[in-house]
Amino acid sequence: GDAFLSVRDLHVSFKTEDGIVRAVNGLSFDLQRGRTLGIVGESGSGKSVTNLTILGLHNPMFTTIDGEILLDGQELITARESELEKLRGNKAAMIFQDPLTALSPYYTVGRQIAEPFMKHTGASKKAAWERAVEMLGKVGIPHPKERAKDYPHQFSGGMRQRAMIAMALVCNPDLLIADEPTTALDVTVQAQILDLLKDLQQEFGSAIVFITHDLGVIADMADDIMVMYAGGAVERGTVDEVLRAPQHPYTWGLLNSMPRLGSDLGTPLTPIPGTPPSLLNPPSGCRFHPRCTYQGEVGGARCVDEPPLLPPGRGGACHLTAEQKQTIFIEQIKPR
Ligand code: SF4
Ligand code: MG
Repeated sequence: GDAFLSVRDLHVSFKTEDGIVRAVNGLSFDLQRGRTLGIVGESGSGKSVTNLTILGLHNPMFTTIDGEILLDGQELITARESELEKLRGNKAAMIFQDPLTALSPYYTVGRQIAEPFMKHTGASKKAAWERAVEMLGKVGIPHPKERAKDYPHQFSGGMRQRAMIAMALVCNPDLLIADEPTTALDVTVQAQILDLLKDLQQEFGSAIVFITHDLGVIADMADDIMVMYAGGAVERGTVDEVLRAPQHPYTWGLLNSMPRLGSDLGTPLTPIPGTPPSLLNPPSGCRFHPRCTYQGEVGGARCVDEPPLLPPGRGGACHLTAEQKQTIFIEQIKPR
């Protein structure tokens, strides 16, 4: 059926003192209800910008947006701020890496979870408070009735993260955008939060966009993956497809720089050489070319001159042939 979230040829640019930053360049993707899309990429790849744009959280003074964002049939780029207000925290919600961006220090945790519920459902103060306590229980806060009266500073980092998730989910959003929600947490709490998100998705059937730089987290959380580089998608497919037979040298680099399950602890990780390009003046042709060691296999100056296209559905945006991709991956990347 039709996608619940459909992004079509999205372009986002910012005016800065140094010129125009083209943060997102012609991005398209679809997401169905009940599924999780993992967006992976280094910082500056456009993954966060894309998602702030979906919820209209960008600064309209300095941002130019083109393309189409359809959420359940509603076009969001042209939507009025009042329509977006109705949607945020209700139909679509966001959880951030740092809970203090979402939680205010001045109000109790319970009140901050109750407020969006009152606003969007018209519930009474008492019913909303009860709902807040219930949500704190659902996200695994012990003694939620008492803890709801606490302020954020009385919570540990992991508990604040849970409280923010409770706040994001209080209206049963159909779309949840999670931007590096566990990066700041220790491994045990991280695993608990990821389990919690999976359980809540089962319960509420939400579509989740999960943004991270960590392929390991994606492997655990997502159904589909989109790999972003320098403002565009360079590869997409199901988690299985992308992790078993990746089609893009950048994805190979990401795989090589993450510890593998079952690999020797001594196996050295190979970081991707170089740094992500400036989007003030992005590289010509394939944007990954300044960091890519496979241009010789393509031949000529094709990688420098001609931007490779990302095929619809499964695939990678790279000029290497399917045979070359398979051979290089199997012979040079896979054995570790
Ligand atoms: Fe590397 Fe060329 Fe493929 Fe870009 S198109 S990833 S530069 S081989
Ligand atoms: Mg980010």
